[in-house]
Order: sequence, then structure tokens, then C-alpha cells
Amino acid sequence: MDNPYVFITRKVPEDTIAPIREVADVKMWDYEDTPVPREVLLKEAETATAIYSILSDKIDRELLERAKNLKVVGNLAVGYDNVDVEAATEHGVIVCNTPDVLTDTTADLAFALLMAAARRIPEAQQYIKDGKWDNWSPLLLAGQDVHHKTLGIVGMGRIGETVAKRATGFEMNILYHNRSRNEKAEKEFGAAYVSFDELLDTADYVLNLTPLTPETEGMFNRDVFSKMNKNAIFLNVGRGGAVVEEDLVAAIENGEIAGAGLDVFEKEPIPEDHPLMKFPNVVCLPHIGSASVETRKAMCSLTSRNIRAVLRGEKPEAAVNWNK
Ligand code: NAP
Repeated sequence: MDNPYVFITRKVPEDTIAPIREVADVKMWDYEDTPVPREVLLKEAETATAIYSILSDKIDRELLERAKNLKVVGNLAVGYDNVDVEAATEHGVIVCNTPDVLTDTTADLAFALLMAAARRIPEAQQYIKDGKWDNWSPLLLAGQDVHHKTLGIVGMGRIGETVAKRATGFEMNILYHNRSRNEKAEKEFGAAYVSFDELLDTADYVLNLTPLTPETEGMFNRDVFSKMNKNAIFLNVGRGGAVVEEDLVAAIENGEIAGAGLDVFEKEPIPEDHPLMKFPNVVCLPHIGSASVETRKAMCSLTSRNIRAVLRGEKPEAAVNWNK
């Protein structure tokens, strides 16, 4: 019998794919770090036993219907909104992801983004690099405090809890909203469960960390921004699809909120003339939540182990539709 065939859609460190090489033949898309074209992905899916995907690859029903040999999709992310899990399950395809290994690193980035937006760090850096720093004045580039302020976390899961842990060091008041209560966050980090409206009404920083689902899509819209405080800063480290970006632009333009920090966008990558890029009080990052070398390698290794496990008929460490 032929070896299983694994198609990896982006260049990843060779040492991290050793587990896959133990059990399968491998092809890696490795063309100057460009995304794999859709037609190539569809073609590869026709013969692949496993697809090792990244979050910009659409693993949809069309692809899954063509993928007659496919057993597993190993997605290099904790979020899996790029994969049609329902269709995968119907086709008997296991969908794996990378929870936990990226939690601390993503929480660090969320906190860095909060600090950067609150204390105007990118703006201050630009100021000095533009040669504008010719004197000191009392309110020059003055931002707003982080310590003792109220942080509202929407989506208090693994990453949310870890941000809350960091916030306790800044003596912040922590509120959260989920569909269900998170006892760990309440007991260990003193987070208080509130309704979505109460969180919007009270928080100085509103941080989205929900997954992108039909329920959270467009959740942060005009109505929601209008309920936030004028001094509030909106932060998004979940997924861009949770935000109606033109409503966020309007809220910033009209001074309904004080600023934003965004690691994710509705359609990525964003061009340099994207409307959210023109505001000095909006910090934009290119989806780098989990981007430390250690964590990205840990995610790659976990993806490889997940794929190897399914190909060996074993339970993977992280799957979203394992039901055997
Ligand atoms: P998680 O542990 O599953 O946490 C997600 C939380 O969102 C849960 O507490 C869940 O609680 C809550 N939630 C889900 N639907 C909701 C809704 N409709 N309304 C309110 N709360 C809702 O996931 P995680 O590991 O913390 O990751 C969270 C997300 O962060 C991922 O799905 C991914 O999209 C994003 N992420 C981004 C980056 C980045 O680079 N920017 C990196 C890693 C992860 P309930 O089920 O009780 O509602």
C-alpha cells in the first residue's frame, strides 16, 4: 500500500515535521512564502491523506467533496473558522488545531496591544523617529492609565484567563462576558461575570477574544460601539470578522470611543490605505498574536503530532471533531 501523502500549505521549519515524515510522504508549498493558490490546494486535496493548513487556507465543502482520501486537516492555529467543520465531519475528516501552546504568548501580545494603545507607544515612537522631539511638555503624548482601570474581556477562555492573570499585576478591575460562567477566572483572578451591555457600559478597555462563529460574526457593531465609554479603547485579538469595521471607523471618527488596538481584521492582509490605518489612536498589527519563535515552533510541532496521530489511527492531542 502507498504511504499516506501529506500536503503542507506553507513553509514550516523542517525539524518540526519529523513526526509526519515518520509515517507519510510530504510535500510542502515553499514558494517565497506566498500563499498556496486555491487551484493548487484543490488539486492537492484530491490526493492528500492529510492537509496541514494555515488560517488563510479555506478548507470548505467544495474542497472536502473533492478530497476522497483525506483523513485529517491539521490547522496551524487554535481558531478554525477557515475550516467547514460540519462538512469535514460529514466526510469523516478529523480537524485538529493548536490550543494551549499559544495561550501565554497570545495573552502577552493582547496585553502589549492594550499598553501600546493606552500609552500611545507607536505614536510616540513615530514622533521621535520623525525628528519632532525638540522639547518636553507636560501633556506631550500623554495617554491613559492602565493600572486600576477596568478591563472587560469578551470571550473569557484560555487566552482571556491568561490576560486576566496579567491584569491582576496591574491591579485592574476585571469584568468578563461569555455565554457561560468561568469559575477559574472568577476564583483565581477575581474576574466578575457581567452582561455584555454592562461590560460595554463600564469597561475602560474592551478586549475581544471570542472565536469567529456565526454568533460572534459582526458582534462589535455600531450599536455596541455607541454603548462604550468615550474614553474606552477597543481591542481585538480574536478574529477580525467579529467587528463591523466601517462601524469601528465611524466610532473612532465621531469620538464615540477613544481608540483601538487591532491584531486581526475582517479581510487579511489589509492594504496600507485601509481606513483604520489613518488614525493615530488606532494601533494595527499584522495578526502576530502567537508570533514568538518558540510558540510558532511549538504550534508547528503540535500540528505535526496531531496529523501523525490520526494517520496512525490514534487520538490526536487536539481535535475539534474527534468522536471515536
Ligand atoms: P477558548 O478557550 O475556546 O475561549 C473562547 C471563549 O469565547 C470561551 O470562553 C467562550 O465561552 C467564549 N465565547 C464563544 N462564543 C461566544 C459568544 N457568542 N459570546 C461570548 N463569548 C463567547 O479559546 P482561546 O484559546 O482562548 O482562543 C480564543 C480565540 O482567540 C480563538 O478562537 C482565535 O480565534 C483567537 N486567537 C487569535 C490569535 C491571534 O494571533 N490574534 C491567537 C490565538 C487565538 P462560552 O462558550 O461560555 O461562550
